[in-house]
Amino acid sequence: MTKILGIIGGGQLGMMLTEAAKKMNEHISDVIVLDPTKNCPASKVGARQIVGDFKDKNAIVELSLQSDIITYEIESGDSEVLESINSGMTINPAPSTLRIIQDKYMQKKFLRENGLPVPDFVEINSFEDAKEKIKSFGYPVMLKARRDAYDGRGNFRIENPEEITQAYEQFSGRPMMLEKVVDFEMEVSVIAARNTNGQIATYPLVENIHEENILKLTIAPARVNKKISEEAENIAKKTMEVFHGAGVFGIEMFVTKDDRVLINEIAPRVHNSGHHTLQSSSTSQFEQHLRAILGLELGNTDLLHHTVMCNILGPQEFQGKYKPLTIEQNNGVYLKMYQKDEVKPQRKMGHFNVVDVKDTKDTNMLLKKVEEVKSLIKFSPV
Ligand code: ATP
Ligand code: MG
Repeated sequence: MTKILGIIGGGQLGMMLTEAAKKMNEHISDVIVLDPTKNCPASKVGARQIVGDFKDKNAIVELSLQSDIITYEIESGDSEVLESINSGMTINPAPSTLRIIQDKYMQKKFLRENGLPVPDFVEINSFEDAKEKIKSFGYPVMLKARRDAYDGRGNFRIENPEEITQAYEQFSGRPMMLEKVVDFEMEVSVIAARNTNGQIATYPLVENIHEENILKLTIAPARVNKKISEEAENIAKKTMEVFHGAGVFGIEMFVTKDDRVLINEIAPRVHNSGHHTLQSSSTSQFEQHLRAILGLELGNTDLLHHTVMCNILGPQEFQGKYKPLTIEQNNGVYLKMYQKDEVKPQRKMGHFNVVDVKDTKDTNMLLKKVEEVKSLIKFSPV
């Protein structure tokens, strides 16, 4: 029996989920997305769209009435509304999981209570409290907004006592937490999946390079030794065991200079650092997510080719409608644009994967090619 899939969020992740769903038409007959932006990326590839806010109770209820199963591609849905409709239908990952993950403090507390390694952190309750705890943590230290943060916009790295006021004021009125700054060697992540029958699968560890807090590159596989990759994969599996609900999860981690692996944060959804799987694996993370929530056997997660993914961000110079980008796609270069109507500085507009089709396993060569392709990408106004 085919199902109608409802997705909260119709951005690029919803778009690539929709594309995967369209290829699984023996299981999914239709896709509906809830997104506040008219003509959102998912709607461009054949999803029906309900235009509404992710937290709009009526819109979420409407989505649930029109769908057989519900999932999400953003973390900012209203988990209470989802919990209230979860009795009548399946929402995956479980709204209770979303509720924990939405609050960075609750998330880290939950991970620590379950024996998973995280950086030192503490809750902040007032300005006085912040000053006291910052003093005991020492500098540098990271003040974080607990909720509704993305692309590092909820983080303030405090270097000295003079910056405390500015940092606190930046998030004033919002719940906050404090975290020790990890002097990391590398940022890595694991894309993991669990299906509704409890089967778990993980993709190999990848390396993530951020610029200005936004993911720029993902290198698959991560350039670490076997001990570290095994430890990170074990942490990812254990994480999957403690969180409820089916689906794909992105598990972001730090590798410290003394070779420890700490969890930075969990995303209960398909993840930017999993976009390489569109070409590097026989099952993309998007198909895997759908297989997981439909209760199908999970697909193979082997890395078939070394691959580097590069995000295409909006340039600083201009904003508005832009001419379609094209690059020659050969020799293992795959461009994916998200069909957003307007470009804005630092907005995620697309990505490309450079795949080691000749199986040289030479990451430096792939990185060189990434630079060549990047130099060909220019946004220009229509
Ligand atoms: P995302 O970019 O995944 O949407 P976000 O806004 O929720 O993320 P985090 O993942 O908490 O924010 O942080 C963004 C980046 O800031 C991390 O990838 C890392 O580079 C840096 N960072 C966050 N916490 C720490 C820490 N405790 N120590 C060192 N660097 C950190
Ligand atoms: Mg993050």
